[in-house]
Amino acid sequence: MPTLITRDQALQRIRDEGGEPACLMCAIASREVGELWTIHEDDEALVMLPRYVRRWGHVMVMPRAHVTSFSGVDPALWARCNLLAHQAARMVEAVMQPRRCYVASTGSSAGELTQSSRHLHIHVIPLYEADDRPSDIFSWQAGVYVGEPAEWAELQRRYRAAWPGAASPARP
Ligand SMILES: [Zn+2]
Repeated sequence: MPTLITRDQALQRIRDEGGEPACLMCAIASREVGELWTIHEDDEALVMLPRYVRRWGHVMVMPRAHVTSFSGVDPALWARCNLLAHQAARMVEAVMQPRRCYVASTGSSAGELTQSSRHLHIHVIPLYEADDRPSDIFSWQAGVYVGEPAEWAELQRRYRAAWPGAASPARP
């Protein structure tokens, strides 16, 4: 089972993994800050599993290009990222069967932080409890879940099997 750790423990782990990169998202995309569990990856964008999550099954979509504002992002690129976020949400619904799925572009308003970035990204987050609220999901105050490598690999395997375009299972 994924383990709940405190916010401070998570921040310390993130620092230990990669220090303080100039851009956290670019560092994740270029695999400079620990293991990267991808669902889909191409020249424009990544769909991956963030490794510190409030709800197990959380997926993140980000453009490879370092863009930090909606004024600065190419409209076609942002449309593509949103298409990928929709595909990710459908995958999350199929695999995790959550009560609800949040899709949101958040990010840091305070410059680069240890756990948040200005680089545009989209969160796709499954909700499992009827009383889950955005304030529970978008804050680390109650701690974050982390997995063992085998748990991330299993989640990645299940998601990749459900990703559009994944090979159909062999029929008997
Ligand atoms: Zn960046």
